[in-house]
This record gives sequence, structure tokens and C-alpha cells, in this order.
Amino acid sequence: MEWIYDIIEPVYLLAAILFILALRAMSNPATARGGIVWAGFGMLLAIGVTILIPVTLPSSSTLFLNFVLMGIAIAIGGSIAYYAAIKVQMTNMPQMVAIYNGMGGGAAGAIAAVDLMLSNWPANQYAPLDIVGGLIGSVSFAGSLIAFLKLQGWMTQKPVTFPGQNVVNLVVLGLAALFGAFFIIQPAFLAGFPVSLLAMFFVLGLLYGLFMTLPIGGADMPVVISLYNALTGMAVGIDGFALNNFAMIVAGVIVGAAGSLLTYLMAKAMNRSLSNVLFSAFGAKEETGVELKGSLKPTDPDDVAVQLAYSSKVIIAPGYGMAVAQAQGKVKEMCDILEQKGVTVKFAIHPVAGRMPGHMNVLLAEAGVSYDKLFDIDEINPEFATTDVAMVIGANDTVNPAAHRQGSPLFGMPVLEVEQAKSVVVLKRGQGKGFAGIENDLFYRDNCKMLYGDATDSLSKVVQALKKL
Ligand code: NDP
Repeated sequence: MEWIYDIIEPVYLLAAILFILALRAMSNPATARGGIVWAGFGMLLAIGVTILIPVTLPSSSTLFLNFVLMGIAIAIGGSIAYYAAIKVQMTNMPQMVAIYNGMGGGAAGAIAAVDLMLSNWPANQYAPLDIVGGLIGSVSFAGSLIAFLKLQGWMTQKPVTFPGQNVVNLVVLGLAALFGAFFIIQPAFLAGFPVSLLAMFFVLGLLYGLFMTLPIGGADMPVVISLYNALTGMAVGIDGFALNNFAMIVAGVIVGAAGSLLTYLMAKAMNRSLSNVLFSAFGAKEETGVELKGSLKPTDPDDVAVQLAYSSKVIIAPGYGMAVAQAQGKVKEMCDILEQKGVTVKFAIHPVAGRMPGHMNVLLAEAGVSYDKLFDIDEINPEFATTDVAMVIGANDTVNPAAHRQGSPLFGMPVLEVEQAKSVVVLKRGQGKGFAGIENDLFYRDNCKMLYGDATDSLSKVVQALKKL
């Protein structure tokens, strides 16, 4: 098996190249699927060659046992992941990303712990790196699990706050750093303490992840998921340095960099700084003093069809409800009919519409809507004033004018200003609130009508009516 040493680095390099090409491919919906396959293949190569690296063990039966244990772990993990990936719905993607992030962080933390248990400073000159990787990994593990529970609706989605929370968080983080430092500098310190220093260090890391995520809620979840993505990448990369494993360094750096960029973009999309997201318990305050003036004015598919057909410009603002209803195909059909009638149709894409970054782009691309019809918030907002009909399909928070109102939990988040259009039609099933749980007075405005029902059903009826015109 000595030949393995000759191929480790070349195979790792090949895996790294595949990761980078995959990331490039993922930046375009047309090539994204291929990118996923390349990345998976790269990962398979990296894992395969790592498993085959010869190790010195007391006996051949221990080696055999190790292979058996690895095989069992891979079989269990692989089957669960395979089953979950097949079953998961597009709208539940954020939870899935959160839990996989968490697993990555947990694995990075566990690797660091094992490396530290085998030998610590100064025998293990990389112990300080293990401490940093272990801390980041455990924070990411616990934080991602809480994010998963919140997104899955298995615990309250509202921020969980208590007095002095930021101070408590800081103390927990400070203690974790202190324990980590002691473990490096003075392992004998606290010897005889009933619980091992290392165990306490990791428990504090987990507690910090938990405390850090509890106060985050509402529309800020996309930012926190991308943050944990970045942290998991960093933890893996740092572990890679400690273990001198080139593949881990590359994979970790790529995930860390991509995650950091995404965190920055998501925070920018919400018009909030990262510290604001992390420390201000967004959405914790209830909306106060909002008066919903006017009334909800239901309309029907025939009226909507007439209105659309006699417009010169229509802007469609899709949201989470379009994804739930899987209405993108009907949206495209309606769009085609309108264009045949000479109506200009554009799509307004809010960066956090749906439940994952790029959610709307992916769905619309899947339905065959051409990319040049999709416009981001800065491009499209000035256009609403010259638009005949703004059609909101299953969007709520991303079109909520409350974001302009000081005192609203959504205050400051850029929103699609659909209310500027001559008339607005909102497709939703009933009086359900958006993800942030806040009332939307758009629906009560004079120029707004409600087309109630599942978005696919409503659009099918609108399409039928349009065909008859
Ligand atoms: P929202 O979640 O604010 O609102 C969706 C609306 O769709 C609901 O009001 C619901 O009303 C309606 N709806 C649900 N099912 C259907 C259906 N079958 N047919 C028609 N309508 C339906 O959506 P937005 O896209 O506007 O906002 C996204 C929110 O999610 C933001 O707060 C964002 O921060 C958050 N988020 C985004 C993530 C991302 O990465 N993009 C990740 C995690 C959270 P009703 O029940 O009455 O039908």
C-alpha cells in the first residue's frame, strides 16, 4: 500500500480542481446541476484516498475493526443523507442546509477533539489550531442545530431573549477561550477537576453556539445560515492545517470564503450589518401601533385576466408561496400569453424571497423563464411607478411596506415597492402572515386586490380566462 503515498497529493489536487470548477458551474442555473456532480465526485476522490492512507496501529485486527467502523459510519450517514435528499422539498432546503452545516461543524469539532486527546501542546505543535478549529466547529454545530429547529418549526421561530443576553454570551465565549488557552498553556492547571478541561471547553463552545442563535429570528435566518456555513468551512480548513491535510484545507477555505461572501451579500440584502443581526434580536419587538386602514378586497380570475390583458407593463413579484404551490410553470404559461398580446412582463426578484438564496431564480429558470426578464430589487423598484399591474405571487415579507416604518421589526429591510404600481394583485391562500410573522398593510391599500387560493389553481384559472379573451 506504499504507493498510496505517491497518489495522495495528486488526487487531492484533482479534488481541489473539481471543487473550484464545481463552484464556478454553480454560479449559473444552466450548469449548476453539473457543478454539484463534479463537487460530489471530487469529495468521493478525497474521501477514498484518505481512507486508504496507511496508518500504524497495534495490530491488523485493530486495522480491520477501524475499516469496519468507518464502513458502518459511511453506510449510516450516506443512507440518511440519500433518503433525506430524495425526500426533501425545495421549500425545506434551508433546514437541510442548516443541519448539514451543523454536521460539518460537529465533525470538525470532533476531529479537533480527537487530535487534542491523542497528544497536546507542546508534543502536538498544532494544538492551538485544534483549539480554534474545535471552538468554531462546536459553535457552528450547536448554532446550526438551533437554526434547523427554528426553520423546521420544531421550536419557536421568534427570537428567544432574556435580560443581559449579550453579556452572558460574551462571558460564555470568554470562558471557552480561557479554557482553550489553559489547555494549551497550562494543561496541569485545574488538574483534579471532576470534568476534563477539554470537555468543558467543548461544552462552552456548544453553549455559545446555542446562545448566539436563540435571539435570531424572523427574516434574519438566511444571514445566520450562511454565517454558519462560513464558520464550518473555516473550522474544517483550520483542522486541515492542524492535520496537514491538503484536501481539508482547500475544501474548508472554499466553503469558508463562499459562506463569508454569501453572509455579506445576505446581510447587505437585508440592509443590516452582521453585528446588528447577531446582537440586536431582530423581530423580538412586536409591531406596535399599526393601524390596518381600508379593507381586503377579493377579486376573481376573470377580472385579473382582463386587467392583465389590457396592461402595457406587468411586473411579477414571486415569493415563498410560489415555491410551495410549485406554480412557476403556470407563471411561465401566463407570461407567454401576455407577451403574445404585446404586454411587457418583468420579474422582480428580492434577494431573500423564498427560503434559500437564489430560490426564485432557480424555480423560474426551471420553468424556462429567460434570465433577462429577471431584475433585482435596485433595478426594478424605480419601474413600479410606470407599471399597470404588479402581481404578487405568494410573497409577503419581501413586499411589506412596513419595512419603511420606523418601529417595525422589518424596518430598514429593502422591499419590492409594488404598491407604487397603478394596481396590485396579490395571490395567496388566505390571511397567512409571512415568515417574519408581521401584518402587511399592502393588502389593505386602495389599489390592491386579493386573488385567494393556491397559487397554481389561481394562475390556472387566470390562464384559462386569458385564453378566452
Ligand atoms: P413569505 O414567507 O414572507 O410569505 C409567503 C406567503 O405565501 C404567505 O403569506 C402565504 O400566505 C403565501 N402562501 C403560502 N403557500 C401558498 C400557496 N400554496 N399559494 C399561494 N400563496 C401561498 O415569503 P417571501 O418570499 O415574501 O419572504 C421570504 C421570507 O423568508 C423572508 O422573511 C426571508 O427573510 C425568509 N427566509 C428567506 C430565506 C432565503 O434564503 N431566501 C431563508 C430563510 C428565511 P397564505 O398562508 O395566506 O397563503
